[in-house]
Amino acid sequence: MRSITTFDIQYAHRFYKFKGEAQYLHGHTGVLTIEVEDTVNPGVNMVFPCNEIQKTAWNVIKNFDHALILREDDPLLPAILAVYEQQGIKDGAPTNQMKGPAFKTELATAYPDCRLVVTKETMTVEGMIKIVYELLKDKLNIARITFTSGVNAASQEYPVSGTMDRCPLCGIALKDGVCPKCGYRKQK
Ligand SMILES: [Zn+2]
Ligand SMILES: [Zn+2]
Repeated sequence: MRSITTFDIQYAHRFYKFKGEAQYLHGHTGVLTIEVEDTVNPGVNMVFPCNEIQKTAWNVIKNFDHALILREDDPLLPAILAVYEQQGIKDGAPTNQMKGPAFKTELATAYPDCRLVVTKETMTVEGMIKIVYELLKDKLNIARITFTSGVNAASQEYPVSGTMDRCPLCGIALKDGVCPKCGYRKQK
């Protein structure tokens, strides 16, 4: 079965060199849906608690929220960083608190201090799905990711193999056989 969680992400981007209006900087509310597949954990009668999927995913996804997402070869990138630098906000501002840990994958690099994500490919809805899967595939048994933004939508299924050991009392993933939340220990 699947547990399904949805997030809203506010972001700005553009499609550099795209021959349409999307080549101009603009913003969206994107809706990201993550489906996690596993057996139903009999103790709690859930696949996975959705608030725990939220916590795990949002920790990295929040880097995209109220962020600017630009492709690595976009000339807007140095231009915007120069303005941020001049204004003294490139390396952070006291009001910028919703920061996830910086990350770097093959497809994207997050700079939480200036709310910027630099991508290898154009950040289309398809591009976002690839980035999110790369970031979360080792943390969650992801069976499908769907991303919609304006009139654009894309969805990708992923094969799920195996099952995660989860706490029969809290439903969250055990770490080395121990529940990080309640201390439950798996019987050997
Ligand atoms: Zn757009
Ligand atoms: Zn527990």
